Amino acid sequence: MINGDKDVFEKFDDINYIPVIASLITFAKPQNFINGEAVTFFQNNSIFKYPKHLVNPFHTEKDYEELFNNGSMLPSLSFADSGGLQELLLKGLVKTPEEILQWQEKYCDVGFALDKIPFNTDNANNVGWTFDEVNFDKCAQITKERIEAALKVRKEWKGFKYYAIIQGIDYKMYKRWKDIIEVKGIDGWCCKSPTNSPANLAETAVFVLLNLDKPVHFLGIGQLTKSIILYYAKRYYKHPFSFDSSSYDSGAQYRRYNLPFYFNGFDVIKLEKGKYSMTNFSDFCGCPACKVLSSIINNPDAEKYIGYLISLHNVIQNIYIFKYLDNIYKDGDKLRDFVKNYFKENTANRLLDCFDFIDDCMKHGYDAGKKKWAHIFQEQKKTTKQQTLF
Ligand SMILES: [Zn+2]
Repeated sequence: MINGDKDVFEKFDDINYIPVIASLITFAKPQNFINGEAVTFFQNNSIFKYPKHLVNPFHTEKDYEELFNNGSMLPSLSFADSGGLQELLLKGLVKTPEEILQWQEKYCDVGFALDKIPFNTDNANNVGWTFDEVNFDKCAQITKERIEAALKVRKEWKGFKYYAIIQGIDYKMYKRWKDIIEVKGIDGWCCKSPTNSPANLAETAVFVLLNLDKPVHFLGIGQLTKSIILYYAKRYYKHPFSFDSSSYDSGAQYRRYNLPFYFNGFDVIKLEKGKYSMTNFSDFCGCPACKVLSSIINNPDAEKYIGYLISLHNVIQNIYIFKYLDNIYKDGDKLRDFVKNYFKENTANRLLDCFDFIDDCMKHGYDAGKKKWAHIFQEQKKTTKQQTLF
């Protein structure tokens, strides 16, 4: 939307890391600036600038509109979430599919269609969800109707792209869902993995490679053990990949600081007896957030900023590592070497198995690949009519 005539897809790189704005939006206002700079990555005056993000219009809609309207937002490739989760948590639709599309079209470049999520939950926690296999097809049908309703009010085609979310917990279900919801006017797809296991994500990726032919966004790809799977799979796919994550935000939530020299390591910064457990951030991290962190840590109001600065540092670390992987991912052997040298041996071996699984599926088809590598998949706690836990 922001760039007028330019087609949104021209703004994409081959692989796009899309940090979720999350709690940093609360620090986007002038009263929270430090020396005139915002503790964010998506504004013109941010301490660190990164031109891609995802906004959840159902948590932070008003703040985002304000930023957009007052022109302080960095020109970006912006994604907007669908609100499907809200329906599940709040037990009802906050906005219609048409209203959601109109908001997305006005404020963002890419919007996800409102899906009817085939899960049940008895409480507002993400715990105890059950996968609703019984109503799976019905949910897909409702999703399709919502997409059709939204597309009727769509005005923008070059400056806004509309992605449909594919639900399911395995290859065959993804396929079934996609076959039901597919309609003309969908520009791209969203996919996700049912667990944090890299093998499950590899299966999702194989579904993408063998069945889709449009840009694909992967939802909730927090750890490097997951994103690395996407980098490996990308070599087989011609359209752009994008993936989002809000895991960096554990800085603001738990003061979890990702160590700059060891991505999988972290330290939790605590305040004990009026002193922080660590203060010399700029001595071992060269990122702009750590420079500010070191300069304010002894100020009386440091407490207000420290969590957000740690989040900003964490997102910068993610950006650095993905920028590096952009250089090597097209060479499968280099990516394998990276995995061997970077992860602990057990983890590395599991990831290399996932790479082999992807290669075999591409060579011999999904069924043959899955059969050969069945042992790398955890026992899927599959839900049935008896409503076993997912
Ligand atoms: Zn840093």
